[in-house]
Amino acid sequence: MSTAVVELAAALISLHSPSSGERAVADRCGEELRELGFRVSVDDDGNVLAEVGEGSPRLLFDGHIDTVAANPNWSRDPLEPALEDNWLYGLGSVDMKGPIAAMILGVADAAAGGKIAGTVGVSLSTLEEVLEGATLASVVRRFQPDAVIIAEPSDLRLMLGQRGRAEITVDLRGIAAHAAFPERGVNALDAAAAFLCALGDRDEPTDPVLGRGILVATEAVTEPMPGVSVVPSRARLRLDRRTLPGESAAAVLAELTPALDAARAVGAHASATISAGELTTYTGRRLQGERFLPAWQTPADGSLAQAAQRALSATLGAVEVSHYGFCTNGSLTAGQLGIPTIGFGPGDPQQAHQADEHIAVDDLECGRIGFSALAAIQPEVIP
Ligand SMILES: [Zn+2]
Repeated sequence: MSTAVVELAAALISLHSPSSGERAVADRCGEELRELGFRVSVDDDGNVLAEVGEGSPRLLFDGHIDTVAANPNWSRDPLEPALEDNWLYGLGSVDMKGPIAAMILGVADAAAGGKIAGTVGVSLSTLEEVLEGATLASVVRRFQPDAVIIAEPSDLRLMLGQRGRAEITVDLRGIAAHAAFPERGVNALDAAAAFLCALGDRDEPTDPVLGRGILVATEAVTEPMPGVSVVPSRARLRLDRRTLPGESAAAVLAELTPALDAARAVGAHASATISAGELTTYTGRRLQGERFLPAWQTPADGSLAQAAQRALSATLGAVEVSHYGFCTNGSLTAGQLGIPTIGFGPGDPQQAHQADEHIAVDDLECGRIGFSALAAIQPEVIP
């Protein structure tokens, strides 16, 4: 049996929406929200913002409309939604077209029932999969929310935080030489090896709730490439660091000093910076993004978390409180801007970016009910 939320989720899955190619899904969501009575606008970054209600407080729900590329292990067509045994299959069924369908219809239910106290915004944001927060920033500037609900899949749990992430580029410059006379040069790969070995001695920070401040090397590129019979003059490493609450970009870089010194001891010039990159929206706008996303944590005894917990347990039964294992747009709203933020959404987060991604129909229905309850949170609880 197919219901409205399943039908909408399936319709969104069938519209391919890689990062920078979200136009079709943005248009479809905009249409749906207009029909449901929302005031809909699209900004320069291609984000759709739908508003309902008037005045304060201003509560923003956010879902990203881009999906990652389907990994090669899919056993079916990832863009062909299929309903089997109460599971909806398809790319983005969990991350996060299913949650978006539940969010749109859930907020609309609250509005239709006259339950919205101030203004509720529904944001369908772009480019989250390449850089969290990159385009949601323009929605936040326009909407000025008092509180934010990230609709990423949480298995219907209430999420109160996540580790952030930093992408670091380490640049090691040596001196090229003939491989038959390596002593005439400085091998940038030797410097890279010294750097990586020294990282092993690092004191890994931990947070009692969010876990380890993991640091992993994910890429090495040498010059010249290919390096045939030549000692490489340059090596660039890419590192991925999961950040904890309170950690700044400067602190994350400062932690690398002993490893950079080890590379220098080999004779190389060594430096580390936060990676930067250029993104292009489907509307053709170019954005510069620095890949430092802060961690965030919302106090469980704070008024927003308490109200959300009451709203969800009143409608869905006992609700578990947890945190996201991955990075979300909450890094912008809570981590950078300090706006009270929580997360809630249907779907098992472990399914995100996996082959044969699927979501339970019951979860979609419960998600719709949960979003409706959250949209009706009363004004006095929003700081
Ligand atoms: Zn996601």
